[in-house]
Amino acid sequence: MSNSGSVPDRNLLIATLRDYVEQLREEGLEGLPAGARVERAAPRTETESVPRVAAPAPISSAVPPQFPPAAEMLSKYPGLETTSTLEQLRTFIGDCQRCKLAPLRKNLVFGVGDPNAELMFIGEGPGADEDQKGEPFVGRAGQLLTDIIERGMGIARSEVYICNVIKCRPPENRNPEPDEVAACEPFMLRQIEIVKPKVIVGLGTFAVQAVLKVKTPISKLRGRWHEVRGIRMMPTFHPAYLLRNPGDKRLVWADVQEVMKVLGIQIPRRGGA
Ligand code: SF4
Repeated sequence: MSNSGSVPDRNLLIATLRDYVEQLREEGLEGLPAGARVERAAPRTETESVPRVAAPAPISSAVPPQFPPAAEMLSKYPGLETTSTLEQLRTFIGDCQRCKLAPLRKNLVFGVGDPNAELMFIGEGPGADEDQKGEPFVGRAGQLLTDIIERGMGIARSEVYICNVIKCRPPENRNPEPDEVAACEPFMLRQIEIVKPKVIVGLGTFAVQAVLKVKTPISKLRGRWHEVRGIRMMPTFHPAYLLRNPGDKRLVWADVQEVMKVLGIQIPRRGGA
């Protein structure tokens, strides 16, 4: 009698393999090169150093972005596409009255940091502290972001560029409304085009969904690479969320380490905000 297994066994095996492949795909594995062989690595000796900058993970194809063409977004405001520096862009925005948030703000919060930064952080919009000072991420959540950048990544906050999807504070810290996002996002797009970062870190559900044009929850988006107009983007939790849920700092630290790999920044053996 044959021992090749019953039909139910085979079906179970196929279902298990299918689940495993699906799991790998969700983790970002796009496939193996043709003819690839798995070779067992020789055991590492005591004296061998451990490489600390690993190859970056591939970009996830799980959530294809639905971007309108950049030219279409920029054409909303004639002349916007001709701004070529952040100073010119800020002058173009001026005392903006293009959406209903304008009369409610104390200060328009444009963005801060290195105009040639390799790393750009994008949040949702200004809160009370940011509205007061005219600078993004300056409250308690901002201090935590600074800690992530400076203590976690080992780089100065002034070496990165930080901005928000919308530039004026929504009342009561509510989420920005679709018409407000539509009015303001061409400025964020132009900031991305001018700074040309190597990596964008999207902070929090709203910012990531607005930038990627998806409705997927942040818990499913974070930890994997996505692409926004040809630039790698790593979504992660907003620092304000971490203040309420400090146990999830380890997840943000894992995301930050992926960013450090792509930027060639050595990862300390112990770290994190
Ligand atoms: S949120 Fe943006 S579009 Fe609205 S007034 Fe402020 S800068 Fe202008």
